[in-house]
Amino acid sequence: MKKQIEIFDTTLRDGTQGEGISLTVRDKIQICHKLDDFGIDIIEGGWPGSNPRDAEFFESVKKEKFNHAKMCAFGSTARYPDKIESDNNLLALLKTETPYVSIFGKTWKFHSEKSLGLTEDENEKLIYQSVKFLKENGRKVIFDAEHFFDGFKDDPSFAIKMLKAAEAAGAETIVLCDTNGGSLPSEIKFAFDEVKKNISTPLGIHAHNDGDLAVANSLIAVENGAVHVQGTINGVGERCGNANLVSIIPNLILKMNCTTKKEIQLNQLTSLSNSIFEMMNLNPNSRAPFVGKSAFAHKGGIHVSAVLKDSKMYEHINPNFVGNFQRVLVSDLSGQSNIKYKAKEFGVELDESTEFSKRLVSKIKELEFQGYQYDGAEASFELILRNETNEFQPFFRTIDSKVYTFFDDEQHKKAEAVLKIEVNGEVEHTAAEGDGPVNALDNALRKALLRFFPELSETKLVDYKVRVLDEQEATAAKVRVLIESSDGENTWTTVGVSTNIIEASWQALCDGLNYKLYKLQKEAKLA
Ligand SMILES: [Zn+2]
Repeated sequence: MKKQIEIFDTTLRDGTQGEGISLTVRDKIQICHKLDDFGIDIIEGGWPGSNPRDAEFFESVKKEKFNHAKMCAFGSTARYPDKIESDNNLLALLKTETPYVSIFGKTWKFHSEKSLGLTEDENEKLIYQSVKFLKENGRKVIFDAEHFFDGFKDDPSFAIKMLKAAEAAGAETIVLCDTNGGSLPSEIKFAFDEVKKNISTPLGIHAHNDGDLAVANSLIAVENGAVHVQGTINGVGERCGNANLVSIIPNLILKMNCTTKKEIQLNQLTSLSNSIFEMMNLNPNSRAPFVGKSAFAHKGGIHVSAVLKDSKMYEHINPNFVGNFQRVLVSDLSGQSNIKYKAKEFGVELDESTEFSKRLVSKIKELEFQGYQYDGAEASFELILRNETNEFQPFFRTIDSKVYTFFDDEQHKKAEAVLKIEVNGEVEHTAAEGDGPVNALDNALRKALLRFFPELSETKLVDYKVRVLDEQEATAAKVRVLIESSDGENTWTTVGVSTNIIEASWQALCDGLNYKLYKLQKEAKLA
């Protein structure tokens, strides 16, 4: 029998406490649909009693239809045991009309006394009355035992007494929270063992990542009785973040023989993770387990030949299970087998004995020697490859370009680029401004090309990175520029190298637009 786990997502509540994260109501609704499609059971949407934006979200989400996911509103227990029915926080929870509500209560005596100034009996009564009130109003109540593990270490009988109050009042699930995120897996196991002796209500875990153990703590909680796991997508959250569902879920399913209430679309995991990073305007973490760009990337030559024979030798799971894929990095280190493998990814079989193969390998090696690197710039690699196979020729030729900088009326430094390019024998002469020289060139090139290729209108530059390559010779140092472009659906990265940063950027910009045009041509979408 597989153990069934309920997945509770708090990306929109605890996750938005993270530094630099802010979501509009529209973003939040979109994320809800993504979580629903993925198979999440319960979505905690916010804290309606604490901020107007969350209250507004709950108003909007009432109109949305979900396949499976249930909405949950978060709040605290009432403030005074004798004024339960007029408690603003509880009333705000009811107003959301969500089927689930989660409320947190103090289970650490020290907190209860110090921050709320309550006696043991008063705190117990608050928990009991608050849960009961919400139950009586038809809600399923999830009780979050705040600071449970710290409280349990400090005074176990106090902590368990508070859980019993929530149980007696009819809580659906009792969630043990590692609010400060500093507990060790052994401590989680010990506490679960003790709680199970006293509580028969289903138990859950809510872990924070201050000791880099939130995922481990969540998994050990499941091994020791938790049937409900709370976390966020990509582990976003206050301080070091919450437990990362993107790591927890594949571990539960692929390694711990668990199922989830609703079948999780595990092969959507990578795309879910990436799209939520995008919506939060955060750079995806390339080293993220399971979903990162590097999670199944191989570089060393011998290692690569082994992976080509049998991927199990160097991969803990099949990357396709989580919607990721194997990548073989092309770099000087790795010898021919990487280039061969990379070419194969693009459908080109390289036979070492052929002239074509020798020519391509030596070309890539020469470019790498000059400082190009295709690990993160697969679009540029593909262009070289397709050029060698005569499938790609640049769509435009630069005749002349000039960039200069000036101060505008408000004394802000601006740049202007003047550009002359040729497309199919026709010359286009144009100019555009920008915040800096690269931005101006980008604007000018796009403007010049749009006349010939209106299909480029959606394509834009989304990320720009510069690296100085040869630090010893400071003045003659080469720079490598990586440019990420997007058409709203796909993103791709291109590279340029030069001693001149504008030249390096120009190469990467041209590759970026050529790549899009090549793809359009291949799909026969070019007018
Ligand atoms: Zn939390």
